[in-house]
Amino acid sequence: MTVATITFHRHPPQQIHPRETAGRYNRLRWAMVWFSQVIFYGTCWLRWDDRQAVLFDIAGRKAYLFGLVLWPQDALLLAWLLVLAATALFFVTALAGRVFCGFACPQTVYTAIFRWIEARIEGDHLARARRDAAPWGPAKLARRGSKFALWALVAGWTGITFVGYFTPMQPLLTDLAAGAPGPWAGAWIVGYALFTFVLAGFAREMVCLHMCPYARFQGVMFDADTLTIGYDQPRGEPRRPRGARQAEPAGDCVACNQCVQVCPTGIDIRDGLQYQCINCGLCADACDTVMTHVGAPTGLIRMMSAQPGGHAAHGYWREIARRLRTPRALAYLVVMAAVSLAMVWQLATRVPLQLDVLRDRQSLAREGADGRIENSYTLRLLNMREAARSVAIEVRDLPGGALIGPAVHAVEAGRVSTVSITVAAPPGERRQQPLRLQLQALDGSGDRAEAASVFFNPR
Ligand code: SF4
Ligand code: SF4
Repeated sequence: MTVATITFHRHPPQQIHPRETAGRYNRLRWAMVWFSQVIFYGTCWLRWDDRQAVLFDIAGRKAYLFGLVLWPQDALLLAWLLVLAATALFFVTALAGRVFCGFACPQTVYTAIFRWIEARIEGDHLARARRDAAPWGPAKLARRGSKFALWALVAGWTGITFVGYFTPMQPLLTDLAAGAPGPWAGAWIVGYALFTFVLAGFAREMVCLHMCPYARFQGVMFDADTLTIGYDQPRGEPRRPRGARQAEPAGDCVACNQCVQVCPTGIDIRDGLQYQCINCGLCADACDTVMTHVGAPTGLIRMMSAQPGGHAAHGYWREIARRLRTPRALAYLVVMAAVSLAMVWQLATRVPLQLDVLRDRQSLAREGADGRIENSYTLRLLNMREAARSVAIEVRDLPGGALIGPAVHAVEAGRVSTVSITVAAPPGERRQQPLRLQLQALDGSGDRAEAASVFFNPR
């Protein structure tokens, strides 16, 4: 099997101001920006019954996902979800390289938003580079100040929205308006806003190059079939400027350097696959514009694989279809299907009722007035449904065992009730006898929970 090689180049330390470009990859990137941000900024405002539809309530130790209420006992579901997300990321990377980096990563998305604001206030890439080099004066101060103020607004609202997924949004806004959001909420809003401001405003693609671990280990997920943005070298070389093409043989590359000027990481894709490339496709957009202008076919820079045939103009979707049939892609698909089935099975068999039993350690066993032996227990009854209901307790597996006192108890919606019970049974021959306690919901749902414990006889 041919293994794709990734070249490591030194990166220029100064701030990069890429030229703006238009094209299908740019449109796709902005579609992802809108899609992800409408979901992020909008979902925390949705209501379900009389509560926030999506809320990870840390104080209440519950997660609300529309009609589903998850408890700490459902942590395995979260683990499955993380495995599914990681496998999906590996699958997409093996299939099409760093498309997550170029189109869906929050760092890319917020950098695109912040850069858009910057271009509206400070002008194009040339004006921004000139202003960087110019001394500070009133004009530079005014433009930079306006830009920072707008960035701060976006970052601040991002921080509030983020915290609004962990504490209910409407009370949070009321507290913020009163200037008292509480120490934890306040610290997280400020911290997350600062994080967004610095990473999207200043660090930008440096995060991808120097901080993101995914950029480092993705090389092991690449192979010769992986689709990445690449330069069709046989077609493009020898590159010659338009004025020098008559005298010597020339490939399709007109050496205009547009692909380098639009690159947010400042690399030249014509040097081959490099770890700095985030697969954003902007160089392909720029080159397509140039090719159209000079009357040559587009696709000199495009999504391609490193296979010998990958450089031919197969078409993107045919490459994807071919790649989907490789053993690696099929293995990822099988893992994702298995994990999804495990999640569905766990959700389908989940019982929203739970019982925990604690023995009373003060008195192990005592003899009652009727000669039977009595043991005391503390029960924790967890009702995970969003409706109050009654439950019946029953003693199992203990010969002659019965409850003393009421067997039916009420449990509030989404609450834990603590109940003390006494179990009585005729004296047994053994020091310890096993017993099970069963909890049965009386709301017709059929929900049932059990817990095991022991029954002690006096010595
Ligand atoms: S944009 Fe296209 S034509 Fe211009 S230098 Fe890059 S590869 Fe060559
Ligand atoms: S080389 Fe092209 S695809 Fe890679 S980061 Fe630069 S512009 Fe984006």
